[in-house]
Amino acid sequence: MMTTPAAPNPLQHDRFMMRSRRLAANLRDLRNAASQLPDAVVLLDRQQRIRWFNHAAENLLGLRRPQDRGAALQQRLAGSKLADWLRGGAHEPLNDAVAPGQADSQINVSLLPFGDQEQLLLARDISHLNRLEQVRRDFVANVSHELRTPLTVIHGYLELIDPEDVPELASVLDEMRVQSKRMGQIVEDLLTLSRLETQHHISDERVPMAALLATVRKEAEALSHGRHRITLQSTAEADLLGSPKDLHSALSNLASNAVRYTPAGGSITIRWERTPDGAVYSVNDTGFGISATHLSRLTERFYRVSSSRSRDSGGTGLGLSIVKHVLNLHQAQLRIESTPGVGSTFACQFGQARLLAPGDKDEDR
Ligand code: ADP
Repeated sequence: MMTTPAAPNPLQHDRFMMRSRRLAANLRDLRNAASQLPDAVVLLDRQQRIRWFNHAAENLLGLRRPQDRGAALQQRLAGSKLADWLRGGAHEPLNDAVAPGQADSQINVSLLPFGDQEQLLLARDISHLNRLEQVRRDFVANVSHELRTPLTVIHGYLELIDPEDVPELASVLDEMRVQSKRMGQIVEDLLTLSRLETQHHISDERVPMAALLATVRKEAEALSHGRHRITLQSTAEADLLGSPKDLHSALSNLASNAVRYTPAGGSITIRWERTPDGAVYSVNDTGFGISATHLSRLTERFYRVSSSRSRDSGGTGLGLSIVKHVLNLHQAQLRIESTPGVGSTFACQFGQARLLAPGDKDEDR
């Protein structure tokens, strides 16, 4: 038997209409608010076609309304780094890309899933941050440069004074020499860091590893003065492709840290060995070790676990920062494992693309 639906109660109908109007108003408010966000927001459907975008997306991504509604985002951004990133799956955020809509702006972009396989593209203008970062870099580079000459002069004069001529000042002179040398080293390290930071590519030269490893070992032995047992195990049979000077600086830095943070009688092992995806250079020591809370911050400039230990051993606090930058330029990763009181291992993982068979020509890679 069929029943006719009951006529809506006028009170219920009014309530329903009121709720609908409230919902519509909320939706409008939300959209208006999103359209004013300083970050670009683009709603994408399952096929990555553009459903909606805000004003910032017009400026930063160059999208136009109404014609870009329904367009495939990848096609719309064709030729830009963003299109390549989308094509590659956009699994990780894209950092420091040129904004397709504003060539003089840089953006960080991420793609977030929501709803039923829909996606939200967010792009943030980081030009201002980049400019500040540039000011900071220039400032550090300029200060370091300006300090270089007066320091060289002071150091030169200190070297000229013979402590035997002024025996009462001998210890003072000694300390002044040590400190002026330390300041000079800090300035040199800061200048190296500035150079590495502004560099995006390194020279692709063959770095003969047998010779480099022998040098690193010799330098470590000179620093140790026979206080440690230093072993070299080189089984990788591979040379590196990169900057000889910077790789020497990074690899010897790790070995010199091992010497400086390992008490006399300890052992240090330098290894160069193959891994399934390339080769790894590592330095293992039986030294003081580092507790886990410090590990993530070790490569920050001037970060030290113990300032006095670093200073006493002649450290500038910039060594691991330099190592990290050099490795980044070689697309290599630094891994640190350490146990306080037991020792540490600092390992640099180089990819296959950075390896050369020893003695081969570069093209034979
Ligand atoms: P520093 O000039 O102070 O050695 P680095 O950047 O080379 O600066 O190292 C940062 C800090 O990391 C050091 O001050 C030290 O506390 C810690 N560190 C580095 N290497 C080792 C190591 N092999 N064993 C223990 N601590 C280390």
